[in-house]
Amino acid sequence: MGKIEESKMKGDFMQPIFLNPSLQEKIWGGDQLRTTFGLEIPSDRTGEAWLISAHPHGLSTVTQPEAYQGMTLDELYDQKPELFGPDHPEPFPLLVKVIDAKEALSVQVHPDDAYAREHEGPQELGKTECWYVLSAQEDASIIYGHQVTCAEEFRQALEEERFDQVFREVPVQAGDFFDVPAGTIHAIGAGITILEIQQSSDTTYRVYDYGRVDDQGNPRELHLQQSLDVTHFPHEDSPYSRSIQDQAPNSAEELLTNPFFSVQKVDVDQSLTLDLTGPYTLGVVIDGKGQLEVAGNHYDLDLITSFVLPHGIDSVTITGQCSLLLTHPC
Ligand code: ZN
Repeated sequence: MGKIEESKMKGDFMQPIFLNPSLQEKIWGGDQLRTTFGLEIPSDRTGEAWLISAHPHGLSTVTQPEAYQGMTLDELYDQKPELFGPDHPEPFPLLVKVIDAKEALSVQVHPDDAYAREHEGPQELGKTECWYVLSAQEDASIIYGHQVTCAEEFRQALEEERFDQVFREVPVQAGDFFDVPAGTIHAIGAGITILEIQQSSDTTYRVYDYGRVDDQGNPRELHLQQSLDVTHFPHEDSPYSRSIQDQAPNSAEELLTNPFFSVQKVDVDQSLTLDLTGPYTLGVVIDGKGQLEVAGNHYDLDLITSFVLPHGIDSVTITGQCSLLLTHPC
């Protein structure tokens, strides 16, 4: 390969890849993805923007650089593996989304990798996730964990509709962070927007849906047996779940590292240079505006700007006044 081609290739590598989200309508969704985040939503019941996704149920699309414009993230992952480092697990491992819960989501639980593979198919991963609360109305709460000791007690209490005695309600405010490993009973409550980082999976086992019906008047399916199979008894709180209220300006704080991903919150008041440690890094702006500097080039950052920093970018500088969540696979 000639010198020029080589440096051109390297040049491609050294650019961030910006993405457009896939938008998902949900019976519990609202209009905040437009009113707060400026996205063009299909209806006022839009629940999720899959910002960084290679999952077939909602693919994000490259907007920049021009060379990859219009490609979906899964196409890029297949056709340009060098952007993602030497390991190439299938499928693409992570998914980053914003959720607008105008109404409460169903009470649910997700399987781990082994259960998902056996029961949902060889390409489906388990779903360990985590949430950063972007906004919460006064008195907002979530369900996080349960209060029973074993599967039998769980089944019996659900049959007798003693939901308050089973589900554990936790008040939330903006800046709270929750670690939600596979097997954790959970539900996002009404009036909350969150940024979710998760394994790339769309397998949800619904435990309870408040007796709601869809547009056709039908209740959504529940998955009691699967829920009993995968729920952890007893519930254990994660030390990673905490409130991130007093982060120092121009700092990066590690929120969580598990076998699947590591998450950092970055707060910039002027300028911060960051060393990147993963094979590649995913980033989303959750507040403010700024600029991203990569290899001497500058890129604008606005609320909800979402990007991949390919393999080979070892450090970036972020300027302006903004907060980001960054994640990389482990
Ligand atoms: Zn979930």
